[in-house]
Amino acid sequence: MGQITLEQVTKSFGDVQVIPPLDLTIEDGEFCVFVGPSGCGKSTLLRLIAGLEDISSGAIRIDGTDASSTPPARRGLAMVFQSYALYPHMSVRRNIAFPMKMAGVPKAEQDKRIEAAAKALNLTDYLDRRPGQLSGGQRQRVAIGRAIVREPAAFLFDEPLSNLDAALRVGMRMEIGELHAKLKTTMIYVTHDQVEAMTMADKIVVLRAGNIEQVGSPLELYRSPRNLFVAGFIGSPK
Ligand code: ADP
Ligand code: MG
Repeated sequence: MGQITLEQVTKSFGDVQVIPPLDLTIEDGEFCVFVGPSGCGKSTLLRLIAGLEDISSGAIRIDGTDASSTPPARRGLAMVFQSYALYPHMSVRRNIAFPMKMAGVPKAEQDKRIEAAAKALNLTDYLDRRPGQLSGGQRQRVAIGRAIVREPAAFLFDEPLSNLDAALRVGMRMEIGELHAKLKTTMIYVTHDQVEAMTMADKIVVLRAGNIEQVGSPLELYRSPRNLFVAGFIGSPK
């Protein structure tokens, strides 16, 4: 369903190669975290997978199918941004319904999925409000709800919690973890926060300047960091 494979993928902006040839496989159902300092290429990598940006060379496969033959909207991936990207003039219900409307999902099915998403995200009482009448955490839940109703093969999160205060971040981390446990859908989660990476991931991909420094479970990276950069980033005592 949601296996994603990158084969010798590169990305250049003009003369500057920000992603050197990169190979990576994200297994179906995995919670994979891309972690690394600001500017290391996390968002670019996610945008390449989503198809919001074209790769310069190489190939991306989703369930074995070359993604270059599939337009972004049909890749079955749902992206959640830190900025929420909600429509301020629409109610929560209409915001969540929007991608289904675009995809031509019948109205009755839309309502069913909205109810289920609202219930899963504790938004049932807020469906008639507008984004401006919600807290930051609630807005982030709406953004996640809008992704859920598309029933994607994978969720792509780009630093979804970085606009929230520390206490709320802890709660949202747990909610996203619960959602993953419940849906068992592939999730790729970008963060520069080590704690988020260590607590949420099945697999962590440590990036530096577009290069993969190491891939492994939180425990593997903690116990056997390959170099000082990984050790420093993960916070293990190498
Ligand atoms: P991160 O998300 O890890 O902070 P980004 O993927 O946003 O990093 O950026 C990686 C590198 O690519 C940075 O050096 C950034 O300046 C560059 N970059 C990203 N998008 C563009 C673009 N549209 N045009 C030119 N350079 C870009
Ligand atoms: Mg980024």
